[in-house]
Amino acid sequence: MRRPLLGSRVRWGLMVLAVLSGLSLSFPAGQVAGPQQARVVTEDLRRPEVPPWIHRATRQVLVLGHAGSESLMEKILWPASDAVLAVGDFWSTAGAWQQHATIVVPSTEDELRALLAEDGELGRTAAVTDPEGRVVINPEVFGTLSPRGRQVVLTHEITHVAARQLTSVVTPFWLGEGLADYVAYRRSAVRDRSIAKELADEVRAGRLPAQLPARRDFRAENPRQAQAYQEAWLAARFIVERAGEDALIRVYRKMSAGTDINVVFRAELGLTEQGFVAHWREYVEGHLR
Ligand SMILES: [Zn+2]
Repeated sequence: MRRPLLGSRVRWGLMVLAVLSGLSLSFPAGQVAGPQQARVVTEDLRRPEVPPWIHRATRQVLVLGHAGSESLMEKILWPASDAVLAVGDFWSTAGAWQQHATIVVPSTEDELRALLAEDGELGRTAAVTDPEGRVVINPEVFGTLSPRGRQVVLTHEITHVAARQLTSVVTPFWLGEGLADYVAYRRSAVRDRSIAKELADEVRAGRLPAQLPARRDFRAENPRQAQAYQEAWLAARFIVERAGEDALIRVYRKMSAGTDINVVFRAELGLTEQGFVAHWREYVEGHLR
């Protein structure tokens, strides 16, 4: 359920992604992938080391994979369709989103790495939204998730897909991940202390986060990576509880456009950044202790 990888993009991965990008653009909302589009995928992605692509589709999603992955593709198809609808429901006031997602299911972690041109740690990553807005699944991790876990991961990633129209290089990581987890858990009946278990353990041991998590805190190498996501989730939810979902979207839009954080917080929440952090720490403590 992790952040887009923004590293340099080389080798044939670039070509594969470019082709898939063109493909996803050819699927407006309400259109289901047909044999013609499937043939385009097969022909354009034919390489000696890549098995032929197969696909499953609904009105909301196109799932691409290989023979042998049918079971996993089926497990993704309807939860991902539900996730597109859930994200569309949240995002309906924020402008046009085509309410369609393309999901790529590599057969192995090696193929995943090649697709993403990624050689970093992926052992705990269930899925990634790539810079072109496709959700790429890590089959070995995703396959171990419970149905609820799969739903959360897909909704989180598809929120990143929908947010791409606003996202920029200056979007704070805590805000991007917080928004994605806010939407992923928006209808959840699970208790906060279960969702944010690692952070709750720290809070009950008397340790509160001092600052909003920074970009480096979300890296897989960080032993407190889970807590960084949980801190971000509760920061986004605090914004919603104080000022509403529209305010969360406006904060996202303004910060992604480069507006100073103090200016945004004053306008939307009546708080300085320092005041926001103080309220958020209280909120974390109040909900997790
Ligand atoms: Zn994410």
